Amino acid sequence: MTDRTVTLFDAIVARFRESFGEEFRLDEALSGHTTARVGGPADFFVTVCSVDQLVEAVTLAARQHIPYWVLGAGSNVLISDAGMSGLVIRNQARSVTFRHNGVGVILAADSGANLSRVARQCASRGLVGLEWAAGIPGTIGGAVVGNAGAHGGDIASCLRLARVLDSDLKTRDYRVEELDFGYRSSSLKKAHVGNGQSTRVVLGAEFKLRPAPAEELVARVEEIQAHRKRTQPPGASMGCMFKNPAGDHAGRLLDEAGLKGTCVGGAQISRVHANFFLSGDDATAEDVRKLMAMAWHTVKDRFGVALDPEVELIGEWD
Ligand SMILES: Cc1cc2nc3c(=O)[nH]c(=O)nc-3n(C[C@H](O)[C@H](O)[C@H](O)COP(=O)(O)OP(=O)(O)OC[C@H]3O[C@@H](n4cnc5c(N)ncnc54)[C@H](O)[C@@H]3O)c2cc1C
Repeated sequence: MTDRTVTLFDAIVARFRESFGEEFRLDEALSGHTTARVGGPADFFVTVCSVDQLVEAVTLAARQHIPYWVLGAGSNVLISDAGMSGLVIRNQARSVTFRHNGVGVILAADSGANLSRVARQCASRGLVGLEWAAGIPGTIGGAVVGNAGAHGGDIASCLRLARVLDSDLKTRDYRVEELDFGYRSSSLKKAHVGNGQSTRVVLGAEFKLRPAPAEELVARVEEIQAHRKRTQPPGASMGCMFKNPAGDHAGRLLDEAGLKGTCVGGAQISRVHANFFLSGDDATAEDVRKLMAMAWHTVKDRFGVALDPEVELIGEWD
């Protein structure tokens, strides 16, 4: 490093520390912030606890030309062992409010709020629309970006609008029809997939909900949670590794290909649900990637189906 880069580095660290104190860290291991419990270090890392802080972190990074990437609950990403250059912003902005707009109840949630917790809150208030999300471990922001869904519901079916900080650092509200939602996809996801850099940041989302008897909704939520417990394995994973191909299930194809229980290093394809790839204590992100590639080729050779990953590979890979 030249004297000039040392000075620039020190200036960046000092500026972030001024705003975020101890929440700003260097070389933070990302394995501690993902559900797969793998992933190397981030050069710069900050945890934000409000939407104002989220905007501030993005603005500071953009103004200093530092690439930035927003991390929700880390439940749909495989981060490389080499980790990430630039700034990782861990989003813990979690405020949730309910208001009546005369027509119905609107739920407004910050993007770092936990989707499953919000779903349970709605059910116990007698508000129908998000029960399908019970047990999904992501944040509202991650769910909007990936159009999370289960049990016949998804984000697109109940979202009213998403508040987005665009790459020009202006905040705009997008209605559901402007976000080009598809199966586990959106225009927001297409904007950043593949480069591990966020360009459009979800700040919050509003959902339109209808009234229904709370006891019925709470019972439905419990049924969904119990179904998850019965059909999904415990342990570190990223949920479903591959999207379901049209008219079929990725889990069925992986199972029929005889892949249940297959291991690479510390990574294993679950014996309970073949689309869940488990990372044991000694697993590396590279083990998981190799297992994923092996499974992809096996299914392609056996059935001629090219599975599309649901999980995003982030960071530096060979
Ligand atoms: C046990 C288990 C079960 C699961 N079940 C389901 C299921 O039933 N249905 C389903 O759809 N998914 C499921 N998932 C996957 C995952 O929980 C969802 O995809 C979830 O919506 C991801 O949210 P996240 O906050 O973890 O996103 P992350 O994994 O942190 O991030 C995913 C992507 O979204 C981006 N992102 C996150 N927040 C923001 C933001 N505020 N602004 C801009 N970009 C952002 C990230 O940069 C990244 O590109 C499951 C996962 C696990 C581990």
